[in-house]
Amino acid sequence: MIFYCKDSGERQETTKMLLGTQRINEAGRLEIGGCDTVDLAKRFGTPLYVVDEQCMRDACRAYRAAFERHWPKSIISFSGKAFLNMAACRIVDQEGLALDVCSGGELHTALTANVSPARLIVHGNNKSTQEMTEALKAGCWLIVTDSLPELALLNDLAGQLGKRPDILVRLSPGVEVDTHTHIRLGQVDTKFGLNPDNGQGMEAVKEALALPNLKLRGIHCHIGSQIFELRPFRETIEIMVKFLARVKAETGAQLDLLDLGGGLGSQYLSQEAPPSVEEYAAAIADALKASLAKYDLGEITLLQEPGRSLTAESGTTLYTIGIIKEIPEVRTYVSVDGGLSDNPRPALYQARYNAIVANKASSPPAQQVTISGKHCETDTLIEDIDLPSLAPGDILAVQSTGAYNYSMASNYNRFTRPAVVLVHNGEAEVIVRRETYEDLVDKDVIPPRLK
Ligand code: PLP
Repeated sequence: MIFYCKDSGERQETTKMLLGTQRINEAGRLEIGGCDTVDLAKRFGTPLYVVDEQCMRDACRAYRAAFERHWPKSIISFSGKAFLNMAACRIVDQEGLALDVCSGGELHTALTANVSPARLIVHGNNKSTQEMTEALKAGCWLIVTDSLPELALLNDLAGQLGKRPDILVRLSPGVEVDTHTHIRLGQVDTKFGLNPDNGQGMEAVKEALALPNLKLRGIHCHIGSQIFELRPFRETIEIMVKFLARVKAETGAQLDLLDLGGGLGSQYLSQEAPPSVEEYAAAIADALKASLAKYDLGEITLLQEPGRSLTAESGTTLYTIGIIKEIPEVRTYVSVDGGLSDNPRPALYQARYNAIVANKASSPPAQQVTISGKHCETDTLIEDIDLPSLAPGDILAVQSTGAYNYSMASNYNRFTRPAVVLVHNGEAEVIVRRETYEDLVDKDVIPPRLK
């Protein structure tokens, strides 16, 4: 996009990152799913999570199509932790994806949204007896076991309920990943999974094969999130397939299900270019073919659990700009009406975001500012971003907030969680209503002696 710089009259090139169905309309405002975002802010209030349904469906379809091309024996499961509510469950279900859940609450949400248990994968490094019982009773497709004590407990519970669930054993392949330490999960020193090389992974597999009420189908791993390189995925495949070969040699069992978790990165900034799903699928398939041939193993079914790469780019958070505070020769703080409670990622992972001023979307940048939230913390949302001249009341659209924003939201400082609105073909529908002050106090109990 080309802008003319007002002062000098010089042409100034600025890349506006427009994702999914985002476009700048004739009124110079940001539009998503055919809806003017300034109108959305007026109608539903801010902060507001806006989800571009087409973008989310396109991402689901791209995954399915790429893996059908490169590895036809593939199942794509949406990792619910990225963005889970009943409407999201319906969308991924309609798109033919499986769904993985990591808590009793996520399982309850999926079942209430009528997702077939036959399409549910159950995770968790410390599943409670209640959660395991619920998963067993519901008849979930796969339970991913994370430790030796859990195998024994699950076997007992399954026996009591007269069930024999299909399970995977989660491994931690120890692959170095260039991402934030908090979302780097496949290394050796991790609470997740079992080491494939120190004997624990093999012990778990042998135990699972021996336990009468469990049916071991395969192995699982998840090496981390927001990964841009393909190398770690290739290395992981080699480690996992080598492990399957060792299982075959030591036990005779030919496990034919390999779950590689999620991890593919999404675009948050204009200068970022994550691999396309097509490139990712081709790399995974090539590495799988090579490793299966190397270890002389037959065909396997590949399971993927993308979360972020299915939903991040479909989400945008709208805020209203409030106080603008200029500290001469230091910086200008622009405060918005949300922050840490609706998006903890900058604070947790130093995550970076891009934003567009929704009501001035075709105006050229005029100043560098820092976007802050309104919490009692230094909750910087975006440090040093070039934006047009700003005034209180402007609507700021922070992009790529569709993963790990709504799902990580809190009531910190007694903020009410924002509404989530689904936009599609010019229609906007609330899929999660905004919390009210009543919701905040509803769960509080004052013991009689304090009254
Ligand atoms: N699978 C498992 C077991 C995970 O822990 C996660 C994320 O933490 C995912 C899948 C999804 O990862 P991503 O959102 O990076 O695709």
